[in-house]
Amino acid sequence: MGTSNQFLEENSVRSNKILFAASEAQPLMKTGGLADVAGSLPLALHQLGLDVRLILPAYPTSVEQLIPLHTVISSLKVPGWGGQVRILAGTLHGELPVYLVDIPGLFDRIGNPYLDPQGHNWRDNADRFAAFCRVVVAMALKQTPLEWHPDVVHCNDWQTGLVPALLSAHWDRPATLFTIHNLAYQGLFDRGTFQRLRLPPELWNHHALEFHQQLSFIKGGIAFADRVTTVSPTYSSEILTPELGYGLEGLLRHRLPHLSGILNGIDYRQWDPRSDPHIASHYSAETLHLKAANKQALQQELGLAVDPEALLFGHIGRLVPQKGSDLIIEILDALLHGDRMQLVLLGSGDEQYEQALSQAALRNPQQIASRIGYDEALAHRIEAASDAFLMPSRFEPCGLNQLYSLRYGTPPIVHRTGGLADTVINASSDHILAADATGFVFEPATSSALWEAMQRAETLFRRPSVWWEHLARNGMQQDFSWQRSAVAYRELYLQAVDDPLPNPLVKP
Ligand code: ADP
Repeated sequence: MGTSNQFLEENSVRSNKILFAASEAQPLMKTGGLADVAGSLPLALHQLGLDVRLILPAYPTSVEQLIPLHTVISSLKVPGWGGQVRILAGTLHGELPVYLVDIPGLFDRIGNPYLDPQGHNWRDNADRFAAFCRVVVAMALKQTPLEWHPDVVHCNDWQTGLVPALLSAHWDRPATLFTIHNLAYQGLFDRGTFQRLRLPPELWNHHALEFHQQLSFIKGGIAFADRVTTVSPTYSSEILTPELGYGLEGLLRHRLPHLSGILNGIDYRQWDPRSDPHIASHYSAETLHLKAANKQALQQELGLAVDPEALLFGHIGRLVPQKGSDLIIEILDALLHGDRMQLVLLGSGDEQYEQALSQAALRNPQQIASRIGYDEALAHRIEAASDAFLMPSRFEPCGLNQLYSLRYGTPPIVHRTGGLADTVINASSDHILAADATGFVFEPATSSALWEAMQRAETLFRRPSVWWEHLARNGMQQDFSWQRSAVAYRELYLQAVDDPLPNPLVKP
């Protein structure tokens, strides 16, 4: 007994120090779900007793929010980038150490971290994130004056994909874990960029960073990390198919022994209807009747008809084909002719979708409210006010809004894919009888299947209220906290340290 405990302790000491690298983390910078994860998983790991440090680019807003900061490295040289690099250190939420990589000329830009004000990728994205990766690598290989050295580097998405590739040739490297939050974004650049970045020539190889004559950042993570994860179990199998593998399915199949899916958690301190500072009326599963005041407040705020009997659907997200924004646009006519249905929508993205939704709202202000833009507080009010939440994503690596919806007693209506399939239990007659349904699941991803699911929701909503309340309460009682996922990551860190991947470019 004593011996096995001692064994566990010794093991965990070897995988205790985690450098968590990401291009965004809530609240320092956010464009999507990656930020939610990078802002809360490190904290959950820290609370499990791991020594976790977050490393991010020093965007101006991140610097402002993390003050006081101190400079821990005032001048670092990294290959492929002529300028100087500084590393600043601060603390998030009073407990999580954060490093900000300050590279004048690369990260000191206002606005979106990936896109210029016209909505196009910044022309030097490859240089920016390659330089960020080089700094992470320098820290991992003890090539900086810092005295803290990670046992594991946890990388996230293409922006950090070069890290496992650059580390793999070093025998004294820490272990690496690479998490795919969305395989559709791969960081593809031309061959000239590969040369300009002065990447090791042996990495120009189809077993390494080359992808059909292009440089692929994400391949660096997938091919070289000791362990690869996706943010839900279902998505980890879906990416093995040509439909969602984007040409990387062969490589992913090859990595199958080291590939797994760990469902994202959500931060219940920020998303809790009992204490949410953004909403009009607090409520819980026991006081669900108090939720109605949020609907009334939002109907008033957005100029919708103030009608407690209306069935209010909510939607929040990027307005892009992935999220099925076009499917929502296609059901608008039916919704307008439905029985007292309303829709509130918050998002931004493709101009054609923004325009279609804005025009529909202008023409039908009593029934449709559309807000184009990004608004964290309004997102909370929509979750609390809506009766049901639409997520018709064509694919969804994990999805967070369905988890917020469950917590807010707002049953989600979701396409059966990825993390949506893993987290929502369909209100089929079987599940209603078994009393464990939490929402409505449909397939395929078509507007008619979405509309059919919305009608099923309506039928249940118009029954005596106990039926709907039961569904909403079931959702509120689900536990998607980070605790469980953090334990799963801790286990993988240990595996990665104990059983590293031999450099795939060295033939045995
Ligand atoms: P993705 O990362 O693919 O965009 P996720 O569902 O994983 O989708 O995460 C999106 C996150 O961003 C959620 O926290 C969601 O509430 C938030 N979000 C997306 N669009 C907006 C918006 N327009 N205003 C406020 N929050 C938004």
